[in-house]
Parts: sequence; C-alpha cells; structure tokens
Amino acid sequence: MREQAEPVENIDEEIQTLIDAMGQTMYSAPGIGLAANQVGEPIQLLVYDLTPKDKERSLCALINPEIVSAEGEILYDEACLSVIDFSAEVKRCAMVKVRGFDRHGKPVDIEADGLMAICLQHEIDHLNGRLFIDHISSLKRALYKRRLQKMLKNGKD
Ligand SMILES: [Zn+2]
Repeated sequence: MREQAEPVENIDEEIQTLIDAMGQTMYSAPGIGLAANQVGEPIQLLVYDLTPKDKERSLCALINPEIVSAEGEILYDEACLSVIDFSAEVKRCAMVKVRGFDRHGKPVDIEADGLMAICLQHEIDHLNGRLFIDHISSLKRALYKRRLQKMLKNGKD
C-alpha cells in the first residue's frame, strides 16, 4: 500500500466487479472513499460517495485520477480505513480540479471543494502510496505508532 499504483489500461468487466466490491466495502465500513490499493489491488482506481445519509446512494468511480490544479487551504479531521483508530487534523487544498475516467471510460473533469476536495486528495494520496498521517507532524505520528503497538500487544485488532 506504500507503493505507487499502476494505471488502469482496460476498463473491463473485472474493473466493474472490483468497483462494486469496493463500494460495498466502503459502505459497510462506513467510509466516504476507498482506493483500490487499500483492498489489495495496486491500480489507479478509487471510489467515493458523498451523498448525505438520508439520500439514495450514488457510487462514483474515478480511474487514473490526476490532480491538474489546486488552490487554497482547508483543515479537516481525517480518518482512514487503513489507519486503525486514529484521526488527525490535516491541511489540504481547499479546491482541486481532478481529471480521470469514469467507470464507463468517459473522460471526466471534476471541480471539487469542501469535503469532496478533501476526500479526493486523500484517496489520490493512497494511489501514490501516501497516507494522511504523512501530512501530520512527526510527533503526532510517533504517538499513533506507539498507540498502535500497544493495541497489537493487547491483542486487539
Ligand atoms: Zn484512507
């Protein structure tokens, strides 16, 4: 998961199955975004859904995503399905433009701000082998590692 994910070359049946499986994993977590390498598939694919809880779900997939521009700053308390029991305030760009392909292979340009901008930057980070804890101070990261070791020693998962 610490490696750069490979670009997707064919948006085939297998990718469709993976997108739906990732959607299920994300919803049951529950989370608002998931990168393919978090589920052991090292390819440039992420899913997200920022629909409010009282609305019908709408799973979005983004393939070979690339941030083409970014501006501003926003602070948000982030958590991650791959970082156990820990959240931290992370500074991100407030607005991003992301280019990629949807699950049908159609090129898409997304302009995102707020939570959506945070979510996309977080998931694209995953695809580049980065976790949100890479953005926090080394002191906070050390605290997290110590806590994680303690949890593992106590046999919690
Ligand atoms: Zn994450």
